[in-house]
Amino acid sequence: MNLHEHQAKDILRRFGVPLSKGVVAFTADEALLAAKELPGPVYVVKTQIHAGGRGKGKFKELPADAKGGVRLAKSPEEVRAHAEDMLGHTLVTVQTGPAGRVVRRLFIEEGADIAKEFYLSFLVDRVTSRVAVVASTEGGMDIEKVAHDTPERIANFTIDPATGVMGHHGRALVSALKLSGDLAKQAPKLLENLYRAFLASDMSLLEINPLIVTKDGRLVCLDAKVSLDDNALYRHPDLLALRDITEEDDKEIEASKYDLNYIALDGTIGCLVNGAGLAMATMDIIKLYGEQPANFLDVGGGATKEKVTAAFKIITTDPNVKGILVNIFGGIMKCDIIAAGVIAAVQEIGLKVPLVVRLEGTNVELGKQIIRDSGLNVIAADDLDDAAKKIAAAVKGH
Ligand code: GDP
Ligand code: MG
Repeated sequence: MNLHEHQAKDILRRFGVPLSKGVVAFTADEALLAAKELPGPVYVVKTQIHAGGRGKGKFKELPADAKGGVRLAKSPEEVRAHAEDMLGHTLVTVQTGPAGRVVRRLFIEEGADIAKEFYLSFLVDRVTSRVAVVASTEGGMDIEKVAHDTPERIANFTIDPATGVMGHHGRALVSALKLSGDLAKQAPKLLENLYRAFLASDMSLLEINPLIVTKDGRLVCLDAKVSLDDNALYRHPDLLALRDITEEDDKEIEASKYDLNYIALDGTIGCLVNGAGLAMATMDIIKLYGEQPANFLDVGGGATKEKVTAAFKIITTDPNVKGILVNIFGGIMKCDIIAAGVIAAVQEIGLKVPLVVRLEGTNVELGKQIIRDSGLNVIAADDLDDAAKKIAAAVKGH
């Protein structure tokens, strides 16, 4: 689950992380009031969407020379004018894709005087099973580009969960950011506080870009991007409440209601599969036959008919889906349950695209019988290879 910048900063503030003062706003009037609560004389109006690159982003509805999704303002009235310009409009950034995101909320912050911009992030490193820290003197810009062009300007180190942040980690950060004097004292403390926030909230990513040095010599986190580990959210009802479903894919929201493992993709073949490994193999073999999967969907081991029906509906309501492949290897999952779920969904919403079904395993004959008896135009397949070949052919002929 991703958080908005203002939510991420609320968490960090509780851990003593240095930030600018800010107030969230959902309307232009709220933006004006928010600015009046801040000291001024400079304000920053920041769009809150679940994507970065806002500063350089462009609004679809505004002229090409209009300012981006992070703007400076010199008075509360100017804050209000920017808010009117931004709210309800679609911001396109390098991370949103061409469709962009509609701006529904803003974060109004006091303006900071920037002397330097750094990059600092924390993420779970699966190779070392530790939290890895990435730091660079090249902040405020695309870190992937820095990694590509000047990898020597990026430092990284990992933190042993048994010891937590130690003196040498702080020194590694000071050296990576080439800090001295009082800044060299602030950095280790900041590192420790960010690490504590990361662990306590079960984050999977915490990215500060930029971490700045202000003209009066303070380290301040100017931007914050947080992803939380979905598997740990049950431990954090307060964080779960921060979920903004307007930022999520409709199909993924629906799938999460039924506890389905679903991820929307950009291809044309909808897949309904049981087991993550089989789902991966199904996606691979679809690609092998020259087509692209429209989704990853694992209905799980013990799915009910209702769950299968919901899954099938999610797939069929995706306008990109030109064909559906149901691939089930029944173990705990019974083939007749799958068949009944698919039939129930088709009876309710119809079927406008070719459907290939491959069933194998527990209760397979019963499952096949249910499909035959339904009188639906289903293309039966014998094995995974046959199924992929048939759906690819059906989609091409469609
Ligand atoms: P992003 O473009 O989505 O990553 O949004 P950021 O929060 O990183 O803001 C983009 C850029 O706007 C930053 O790198 C800064 O250069 C600039 N910016 C943001 N806040 C301030 C501020 O308080 N003062 C000044 N002078 N610039 C700011
Ligand atoms: Mg940024």
